[in-house]
Amino acid sequence: MVPNYSRIRCRSAISKSNLPGLEYTINPYIGCEHGCIYCYVPDVIRRKEFLNGWGEIVYAKENIVEVLSKEVRYIKPGVVGYSTITDPYQPYEKKMCFARKVIEMLLQNNFRISFQTKSSLILRDLDIIGGDRVDVGFTITSLDEEFTKKFEPNASPPEERVQALEAFSEKKVKTWIFYGPIICGFNDDDETVKNIISLAKRTGSYLMYDKLRLKPILSKRMEKHLGEEFDKIRSHMMEDDFRKVYYKVIKLGREYNVKVEPAFT
Ligand code: SF4
Repeated sequence: MVPNYSRIRCRSAISKSNLPGLEYTINPYIGCEHGCIYCYVPDVIRRKEFLNGWGEIVYAKENIVEVLSKEVRYIKPGVVGYSTITDPYQPYEKKMCFARKVIEMLLQNNFRISFQTKSSLILRDLDIIGGDRVDVGFTITSLDEEFTKKFEPNASPPEERVQALEAFSEKKVKTWIFYGPIICGFNDDDETVKNIISLAKRTGSYLMYDKLRLKPILSKRMEKHLGEEFDKIRSHMMEDDFRKVYYKVIKLGREYNVKVEPAFT
């Protein structure tokens, strides 16, 4: 289903961030067409239209590049998390082309940039993403397409993400993998963990992991999409369930000599 795309105008482009390792954020979109059923963003932004329509409505801040071009003149350079509440390379980006202009502008003005995606559209900007002031993260929750179809219905299939990650790794861009959310009973098996750690090894990426965190709007959406399977998820939400997976990740990280760390402490 094609979502409802709308354009809005913004007064500011860059804002202070409380996220670990980031000083600023820039969010060019509100809403994310990838529509991952575990996405916690609707619980954070709490807008009425997203209560039942996450993935179906996307707003693009049409003047964001112009606003940013004024702000970068007086804001002290620092680390910018680009598009922290939506995927920067969701399908609407094909039309809007914000990322390329924002990345070029930030690098020209001595900012550092960190971003994370589940989309192979990022390959469009491979030629300008590089140097020691950019890092690129790929969310890899599983290499099993059945899993990703179920939980991340409109994101690029895992094989495409792997190819994009490999392309950035070959270009010697600093890359990382986000293995999260870990959903016990669905993507915590030995094979999945091994595949993801091997991928990190092969591409010289470090790995961050995180568990599923149930929130009210998220839980309703998961229940709607998964039906009875959601009971299985709910029954594996104890700290002990996650500790077993963390142990596997840390152990394999040591074996493969891959740096692994929790995304949030
Ligand atoms: S890609 Fe990220 S922001 Fe977009 S729906 Fe999925 S989890 Fe949410």
